[in-house]
Amino acid sequence: MIRFLDLHKINERYRKEIDESIKEVLDSGWYLLGKQNEEFCKNFAEYCGVKYAVGIANGLDALKLAIMALGFKQGDEIIVPSNTYIASILAISECGCTPVLVEPDINTYNIDADKIEAKITKNTKAILAVHLYGQTANMQKISQIADKYNLKLIEDAAQAHGAYHNGKRAGNLADVAGFSFYPGKNLGCLGDGGAVTTNNEELYNKIKALRNYGSHKKYENLYIGLNSRLDEVQAAVLNIKLKTLDTDNEYRRKIAKYYIENIKNEKIILPNYSNDHVYHIFTVRTEKRDELQQYLKENNIETLIHYPIPPHKQVCYNGKLGDSYPVSEKIHSTILSLPISPVLEMEEVEKVVEVINRF
Ligand SMILES: *Cc1c(COP(=O)(O)O)cnc(C)c1O
Repeated sequence: MIRFLDLHKINERYRKEIDESIKEVLDSGWYLLGKQNEEFCKNFAEYCGVKYAVGIANGLDALKLAIMALGFKQGDEIIVPSNTYIASILAISECGCTPVLVEPDINTYNIDADKIEAKITKNTKAILAVHLYGQTANMQKISQIADKYNLKLIEDAAQAHGAYHNGKRAGNLADVAGFSFYPGKNLGCLGDGGAVTTNNEELYNKIKALRNYGSHKKYENLYIGLNSRLDEVQAAVLNIKLKTLDTDNEYRRKIAKYYIENIKNEKIILPNYSNDHVYHIFTVRTEKRDELQQYLKENNIETLIHYPIPPHKQVCYNGKLGDSYPVSEKIHSTILSLPISPVLEMEEVEKVVEVINRF
């Protein structure tokens, strides 16, 4: 069986170092907001090329804290792509703001910058750009729009650790960015984890307090905050894994390139290749999606769909996100994600190509 993602195999590569550093945390007797978190935030900020990073308990909270720190209130509108993972939209709703969905570009799967202006109203306060599947959104165009309308710009970088845009890394392309270290992400820990990055000192200090009950000093509360901190065990694991993120991403690009150069089947639409892309997810598109998935399964190849139901059709939103997103619907009904990971063998990649070319 060619697995979509083998997390055990991914983490086994660091077995010795992880064992040692978890023991170090255990022995230290200090489990939250300690040395590991401090070190990781410093290393991750440096990696992203930003001044500050704050360790958060998960990616959803990282986005939520970014929005909270910007001080938006009930009824403020935030623009977000209509085909994103639901967490980007939940972060907006959970802050009491209104998500305003904009369709993606069918070739990049990222928000179609040309469709943003039509959705701006007097209540629009920010754009939440998502770097979906590991490719940065069209940030140049999006920041021009944000500047023109005096909007804040937020990145959802949960799928794009290490991705580049004009020489700058994801996490350094907006006012503030949210990352997730969920185990399956390009940089993943052994449970939930996340981070916020920013170059703005005021936002940095506010987020540091907000993720710690709104307190910057023990038992003094400046804000109505959350309890959402990256713990020392996860930070220790991330400090180890961050060192190989670039080589892991390089290997993902090698797989992506192989798929793109060797899949030759006119029923299948491939993504573009880019050295700036970190291929968190490698998606193909076909009108025969369900048949292709079944065929691959019969040939012992596991695939997934990112994502089967568009956000505006999710029961929890009860139609409130609007009802006409034809590009999203087309993507959701035709997309399929092929196996890709730093531990997928090239022989396995060759096998996937061979089977797809016979489909
Ligand atoms: C994973 C993910 C999130 C949420 O991160 P969690 O750590 O799972 O809360 C947010 N946005 C996108 C695009 C994601 O892929």
